[in-house]
Amino acid sequence: MSNYTDRVYEQVVEKNPSQPEFHQAVEEVLDSLKPVFEKEPIFEKNKILERITEPERVIIFRVPWVDDNGEIQVNRGMRVQFNSSIGPYKGGLRFHPSVNLGIIKFLGFEQIFKNSLTGLSMGGGKGGSDFDPKGKTDNEVMRFCQSFMTELYRHIDGRVDVPAGDIGVGAREIGYLYGQWKKITQKFVPVLTGKSREYGGSLVRPEATGYGTVYFAQEMLKTRNDDLKGKTCLVSGSGNVAQYATEKILDLGGKVVTLSDSSGAIYDPEGITREKLAYVLELKNVRRGRIKEYAEEFGVEYVKGGQPWVYKTEAAFPCATQNEINGEEAKTLVDNGCFVVSEGANMPSTIEAIDVYLENKILYGPGKAANAGGVATSGLEMAQNFGFESWDRETVDKRLHRIMVNIHKTVYEAAKDYGEPGNYMLGANIAGFKKVANAMILQGHW
Ligand code: NDP
Repeated sequence: MSNYTDRVYEQVVEKNPSQPEFHQAVEEVLDSLKPVFEKEPIFEKNKILERITEPERVIIFRVPWVDDNGEIQVNRGMRVQFNSSIGPYKGGLRFHPSVNLGIIKFLGFEQIFKNSLTGLSMGGGKGGSDFDPKGKTDNEVMRFCQSFMTELYRHIDGRVDVPAGDIGVGAREIGYLYGQWKKITQKFVPVLTGKSREYGGSLVRPEATGYGTVYFAQEMLKTRNDDLKGKTCLVSGSGNVAQYATEKILDLGGKVVTLSDSSGAIYDPEGITREKLAYVLELKNVRRGRIKEYAEEFGVEYVKGGQPWVYKTEAAFPCATQNEINGEEAKTLVDNGCFVVSEGANMPSTIEAIDVYLENKILYGPGKAANAGGVATSGLEMAQNFGFESWDRETVDKRLHRIMVNIHKTVYEAAKDYGEPGNYMLGANIAGFKKVANAMILQGHW
């Protein structure tokens, strides 16, 4: 790192102790930005890094709720409003027992650059709670969501901060959160995205992150005159992003042989067909069961506590959670023939894993570029809501595809301009950063 990036990184670590995921996200971005500061001293002069690594606002609140046994439960809720220089704060809510401030800050920080890359006017934010929806009844989830929104509502609005879903927050949770927002404020405005169709949701929003990640992989492959047809792919996770990444890989002629959840992974060497995928959607979205049941249903291998990264493959799509591929696993992937990694999840690869991808010159699409299709389609949902319109499926999918092609082009060209063609991580960090940094300078010192 340059002196400037080194200095700011040390300050970030000192000022934010016990937030390793946030440090990791900052380190990765700052490392890529070194050549920018050498070329353009205006950013250092305006103390952009000191400002951009400090959230504009952090809100932490108590979320009390009553479970089905009449017991009072208390969770912690939070929203990090990280940067609003190019638009209202935008980013999902995560409900998972592992949620803490460091995780929400890493996600919010990444979101600034991702949203910038979409070309839409969206700032960066993220929120969530250590509440675990797993094993809770619908009524318990509803009471929790109502209590969460009873505090959050005063900090968000359609032109201020527009949350969406993330791990543990799908259409059910968004519905309960939206209902409570409307009851308190009496307003029907797009204050949340990822809504159901019936009350303003966009077609293709549920599919968008997974589809977008695969569109991004396809664009990377095009640079080598290749495509996904006939390729064996490893997908991790079995939630929203994993489900629709799998669907799009099938559409494009690829074969998906793995899925996973936090308990283990399945390996289906014959490939997950559309019928089997329909089973996964029902299992995960309706019955809320475990991926182990897939192995029992179709008689395939299940590895308890296992990960998909040990099998022969050409392309990997990590779609579960942060740091799910470490350096050793990345080496195994490359040794087993993997030459494309497109990240559906946020920061699924450790810094050591990324080093392995870059050393081996494989096609590596970092999450902030490769999974930006989700937030981009949230932006399209807002555009439809503000215009009192509802676009058909083909229109939304075409726009999503165009946005992913543009993100790929922007990132590819930024990497080339800075002398590292094919380094999508560098390109994504530089292109995402420069737009926001310039907007901050134009708006003065605040
Ligand atoms: P879901 O809750 O729908 O699915 C998450 C999946 O990941 C589940 O299969 C879950 O298993 C698994 N998982 C979660 N935590 C862990 C863990 N600690 N170890 C192993 N597996 C785990 O979430 P999404 O599909 O929406 O999100 C997946 C990733 O994609 C996240 O990184 C998210 O930030 C990112 N993302 C999502 C977007 C969206 O639009 N939804 C947009 C951009 C990025 P289990 O069921 O056992 O918990």
